[in-house]
Parts: sequence; C-alpha cells; structure tokens
Amino acid sequence: MADSCLFCRIARGDIPATIIAENARCIAFRDINAQAPVHALVVPREHVTSLNDLTDGTLFGEMALLAQQVARDEGIAESGWRFVVNTNRDGGQSVYHLHGHILGGRALGWPPG
Ligand code: 5GP
Ligand code: ZN
Repeated sequence: MADSCLFCRIARGDIPATIIAENARCIAFRDINAQAPVHALVVPREHVTSLNDLTDGTLFGEMALLAQQVARDEGIAESGWRFVVNTNRDGGQSVYHLHGHILGGRALGWPPG
C-alpha cells in the first residue's frame, strides 16, 4: 500500500509537494487544487486509509495541532477556518490516505454540498 499510495509517497519525499509544516508524525502541504485562498492538507506519515480506520487517537491529536499551527502561520486563525476530513464515497474522499483539509481565507458556506 505504502508503495503505491500518493500521500505515503509525498510524505516520504518521493513526489514533490509544497510542504508548509511538519511534526514528528504528520506533514502539511498545499493542496494542488485549492478551493480557498488557504487550502492545505495534513496527513500522517504512516498509512491510515481513512478516519474509519483510525485506532490511535493521539495521531489525530497531532494532526489537529499541526493544523492549528498552519492556521496561525497562514493568518486565518482569527478570521476563521475549517478542518475537514472527507471519509469514503459519500464523504467525498478521493485519496485513501487519511488527511484533513485546512480551508480558510474566505467565508465558507454551510451546509456543505
Ligand atoms: P479528498 O477528496 O480525498 O478529501 O482530498 C484529496 C485532496 O488531495 C484533493 O483536494 C486534491 O486536490 C488533493 N490532491 C490530489 N493529488 C494531489 C497531489 O498530487 N498533490 C497535492 N498537493 N494535492 C493533491
Ligand atoms: Zn498512504
């Protein structure tokens, strides 16, 4: 799985991405198809297929803390932002390696489509 998984390959440095933050267990990089002025992804370095497969709550905490740091660094912490985890088909997941979207820099609609 790790050999063919896109985000495993980005996390290993095999495929380039604009990395904007990292910690011991996660990296954050800019989404290639930004849907907002700030759109980045937080992914664990280890392969977890989706939120359905998460067993280590500490790992998700590390993802959330890195997202918080990115929001601060990108200047959207105070204006507001969203941390979204699309899960499986109806959730709109297209890359099957757990990731959180950081979205901000404009007013975001609710409810989502
Ligand atoms: P999902 O639809 O699974 O929630 O989100 C996957 C996200 O990954 C999409 O927003 C898509 O634009 C982004 N993405 C897909 N391939 C690449 C890539 O090669 N590099 C980067 N930086 N983002 C990607
Ligand atoms: Zn992976």
